[in-house]
Amino acid sequence: MKIIVLGGGVAGVSTAWYLARSGHDVSVVDRRSAVGDETSYGNAGMLSYGYTSPWAAPGVPFKAIKWAMQDMAPILISPTSFNLRTAKWMMQMLGQCTEGAYRINKARMLRVSQYSRTCLNELIQELSLDFDHRAKGTIELFRSQEKMDSIGADIESLRNCGVRHEVIDQAECIHHEPALANMREKFVGGLRFPEDETGDCNKFTAALAEKCRSIGVKFILDTTVEKLDAVSGRVTSVHTSKGEMIADAFVVALGSYSSFILNPLGFNLPIYPIKGYSLTIPILDPSRAPQSTVMDESFKVAVTRFDDRIRVGGTAEIAGYDLSLDKKRRKPTEFVIQDLFPGAGDVSKAEFWCGLRPMTPDSVPVVGETPIRNLFTNTGHGTLGWTMSQGSARLLRDVINGKQTDIDTEGLSIYRYVN
Ligand SMILES: Cc1cc2nc3c(=O)[nH]c(=O)nc-3n(C[C@H](O)[C@H](O)[C@H](O)COP(=O)(O)OP(=O)(O)OC[C@H]3O[C@@H](n4cnc5c(N)ncnc54)[C@H](O)[C@@H]3O)c2cc1C
Repeated sequence: MKIIVLGGGVAGVSTAWYLARSGHDVSVVDRRSAVGDETSYGNAGMLSYGYTSPWAAPGVPFKAIKWAMQDMAPILISPTSFNLRTAKWMMQMLGQCTEGAYRINKARMLRVSQYSRTCLNELIQELSLDFDHRAKGTIELFRSQEKMDSIGADIESLRNCGVRHEVIDQAECIHHEPALANMREKFVGGLRFPEDETGDCNKFTAALAEKCRSIGVKFILDTTVEKLDAVSGRVTSVHTSKGEMIADAFVVALGSYSSFILNPLGFNLPIYPIKGYSLTIPILDPSRAPQSTVMDESFKVAVTRFDDRIRVGGTAEIAGYDLSLDKKRRKPTEFVIQDLFPGAGDVSKAEFWCGLRPMTPDSVPVVGETPIRNLFTNTGHGTLGWTMSQGSARLLRDVINGKQTDIDTEGLSIYRYVN
């Protein structure tokens, strides 16, 4: 079958790999001149199989108000970009902040992310891919005993979901992350996810695209997708800046821009862009750098070790599609790296970046078939698109091939937004 994948981020390229490997003739269309150049470029690098959780959770509305008033707030709302679409999405998200919805959404997300771990590990057994990969677990670090004493509900939820975790004291944190010994007065302990991994998503996407090319996938870059034509319940072609293209099936993997192409076909897909920032810092002194990811719970900033760099990522800003880089937003990431790992890297040479997380109100990705029989989606992965990339791509391959899927597809497709 000839299949066109729209979008060459980690979701699109991974989809292309699994489809081409199962015998399809695959092309990937992207407006950038390289793959993985938008949100998949500078993310925090966490493969958070255990840390997988929906944004929308009981108590979040209250916490969000508290955070918004905090210096270096982890959540920000830009008043200039607030409009009806933003308000509607936020209302939908708030509607998911109940105990019941949280439990359902978390189970759906965990299903994909745990599967994704298996898929990534099988893939790297098969292919040699250089992406600064490490499998050393991650630590959520607590700065106060009060916070540490309040994680009972989180622990219970992890236990119920069967996620491996360890509550560790200060000495155990230092055992796993020796550089923290220099700053032991800053924290009291942590929650460790021994099965979490790390890696550079952009390097992974570029390396996998090379493997895709070697098995015949065509990359049609510098090409903007304009619209899909659908006739009698089938997509017949995609219109692009380089002309019309036809195929037997189409996959939308356009990240935060997916709704612009899908909604004119009659869908009402609420994917909203949640802006985040990162710094990529060259390492000066490896003995002062982290080994894996340390997530600073107070500021919701993740510090991740790549081979010779440190990636520091955080902030969730509701600012529409604005991709401007406001220097003020460097503050939380700069503060956390200098506070926890001083002297590890050269912050003056850091690359400052921002990207738009493709968020659904329930934080669950939108993977699978649609009411249009040759149109499929692999999008809406929000804060965890790198983590879920391999699981959702392999799942979609099986859906498209009409095969029994390895995990249940319940609640993952666009049907949850179709009346
Ligand atoms: C600060 C930050 C930190 C993050 N940290 C993590 C993390 O630690 N772990 C994790 O799992 N996830 C993380 N994420 C989320 C993760 O990066 C995203 O979920 C993931 O990259 C989404 O991948 P994607 O392929 O769906 O989207 P994208 O990477 O955005 O790919 C979509 C592609 O579509 C193309 N495109 C869009 N519109 C058009 C059009 N009209 N025509 C042609 N091409 C088009 C774009 O050029 C782009 O290449 C983070 C995100 C941010 C912003």
